[in-house]
Amino acid sequence: MAVETPQHSGLSAPLDYLSERPLTPGSLLRVPLGKREVLGVVWTSGGSAARAADDATLRQVGPVFDQLPPLAPAWLALAEFAAAYYQRGVGELALSVLPPELRKLDAEGLAKRQLRLVKRLAREPQLGDAAVPDRPELDPAQRQALAAVEAERSRPQPQPLLLHGVTGSGKTEVYLRAAESVLAAGRQALVLVPEINLTPQLEARFASRFPDRRLVAMHSGLTPAQRLSHWLMALLGRADIVLGTRLSVFAPLPRLGLIVVDEEHDPSYKQQEGARYSARDLAVYRAHLERVPVILGSATPSLESWHRADEGRYRRLSLDARIGGGALPRVRLFDMGVLPRDKGVAPVLAPPVLRALAERLGRGEQSLVFLNRRGYAPVLHCADCGWKSGCPHCSAWRVFHKRERTLRCHHCGYSERVPRACPECGNLDISAIGRGTERLEEQLAELLPGARIARLDADTARGKGQLESRLAEVHAGEVDVLVGTQMVTKGHDFRRITLVVAVNPDSALFAADFRAPERLFALLMQAAGRAGRDAAASAGSEMWVQTWHPQHALYAALKRHDFAAFAASQLAERRGAGLPPFSHLALLRAESRDAAVAMGFLQAATDAARTLPEAGQVTLYRPVPPAVSKVAGVERLQMLLESPSRVGLQRLLADWLPRLHALRGEHKGLARWAIDVDPLAI
Ligand code: ADP
Ligand code: ZN
Ligand code: ZN
Repeated sequence: MAVETPQHSGLSAPLDYLSERPLTPGSLLRVPLGKREVLGVVWTSGGSAARAADDATLRQVGPVFDQLPPLAPAWLALAEFAAAYYQRGVGELALSVLPPELRKLDAEGLAKRQLRLVKRLAREPQLGDAAVPDRPELDPAQRQALAAVEAERSRPQPQPLLLHGVTGSGKTEVYLRAAESVLAAGRQALVLVPEINLTPQLEARFASRFPDRRLVAMHSGLTPAQRLSHWLMALLGRADIVLGTRLSVFAPLPRLGLIVVDEEHDPSYKQQEGARYSARDLAVYRAHLERVPVILGSATPSLESWHRADEGRYRRLSLDARIGGGALPRVRLFDMGVLPRDKGVAPVLAPPVLRALAERLGRGEQSLVFLNRRGYAPVLHCADCGWKSGCPHCSAWRVFHKRERTLRCHHCGYSERVPRACPECGNLDISAIGRGTERLEEQLAELLPGARIARLDADTARGKGQLESRLAEVHAGEVDVLVGTQMVTKGHDFRRITLVVAVNPDSALFAADFRAPERLFALLMQAAGRAGRDAAASAGSEMWVQTWHPQHALYAALKRHDFAAFAASQLAERRGAGLPPFSHLALLRAESRDAAVAMGFLQAATDAARTLPEAGQVTLYRPVPPAVSKVAGVERLQMLLESPSRVGLQRLLADWLPRLHALRGEHKGLARWAIDVDPLAI
């Protein structure tokens, strides 16, 4: 049985139990564990029966959820693969991806829920009666893409499809058509989106296209009861389409026929705690297991996926133009270096950028101004004594939030009222250094008198419904200038925006993280995609980038909207530097209140790794602190492992894991440790 054993227990394999009757693998049931009774999944059965009969210590299984169909062998294989690949226990992984409510219910409680669900479904109007809406005639590129999906569907082992096309090029329409034929064949479709905020839009499109089908959402915003009932509908085959965030890659789908991963490059597909799986990568694996096509769609595919397409392992499909002939905005770079500075500070907006904003305002068009930093200013500073608004619990500055009148740490949440005077020397003249979206909003209001300005970032969209109401204002034309963080660049279909401004995107060009340029390019392309979606207005649409490095190759590719050129140059750099996708990485992270303890653990871990047979294939780097080394009083350290061989790295990790569990006991004061395979941030 796979049961929920915590990671630190070191129990990674399924546990043995006795059952008086044969049980099908995948069946759900309750089993005793210590003093508790917990949910379990029958993993394999019968194999060790002879041994089990002899073993007096084995315990009897509890009640079996007989009214539920067992999880399919392919589901078990997916969970088993994910556990092995991401170095977690099978039970821990399998149970963590089942609905939390299911883990709490006993057999009787579940039976009641299921009965209620079935009754409710019976009361619903007959789905088959709804009128099927008109759908657009596909353009030639879409037709070709769809034909490729169909061709893969009919192959015994379909190849993954990488659907590359800018925003508005008709990717979603391809997903809809591919889903249509899969549904018509009586199969289910699984559609993954990176973020919960993006689900309602896509959900609405699928729901209106398929009024005669049942669609369920799966994401962390559902109540526990909803999550369970949606999961049950998927498992019972009552849902035709499951649309959700990364956790839905584990949705039980007995008739799976197609997987779609929208915005496949998005870092949100990587789980950041527990089993740190990549839902995108697991979707590809699941499609392979279940022999169904998977469509990975993006305007800026991940370099991993792009490289696989280069190698012929994925089939690349391209939609080269926007539907309706809408042009992509003209990208213009402004060299901030040429501007005169006022006391060493460059103005917030360059004159031509300000003029472009004023023109849009005059014409009643909308603009989007993008700055990837929230708050008013990232730090407060006293020029007399040098005090800065550091967080007492983290190695980070506390951000000044003006309207809220607080200094707030974005890492641990620690917040205090803004001091009137310097807490060190009493100087009344403390100043805000740098700029976040709140300050930008204030400055834009001064520069563009009369403009209706709205801000969209994690601070203004925190409350329930706030994001939706802001977006509704933008759609209703009640906003002239929308200011925000990367939140504004994602997926929202703004029809009337004809100008996008990136205020200060340079920092990512020189960041320590080798993926920073890839992210920046994706972000800017995505931001550009917000402009000119309305073909009529697209001719005059522009994106301005304010930069101190106008010669940078990234911006040159951006100007030409040339993802392929950008990808080729990045891949050449990565190949030269031996970075992914040309090598494979894992991180071992350790946390403790005492940095020396974390360091001791990582050093001992390194020594242990050196003795393993695969050590020759894997480079072990020295433990170092991450960019923010202390959070909420806990010191963090990490060590990187790199190998040209994925298999070599996997073998080393698998051999290493039991050693790490054993080592933990020798390092008192270690708060946590974790392995992150294919880490996104290093
Ligand atoms: P993407 O997913 O690449 O951003 P969409 O599929 O959303 O692109 O298409 C952009 C817009 O064009 C949508 O409003 C969509 O309804 C419309 N559209 C897509 N394909 C066609 C087509 N073949 N004919 C007419 N309109 C289309
Ligand atoms: Zn001071
Ligand atoms: Zn803090």
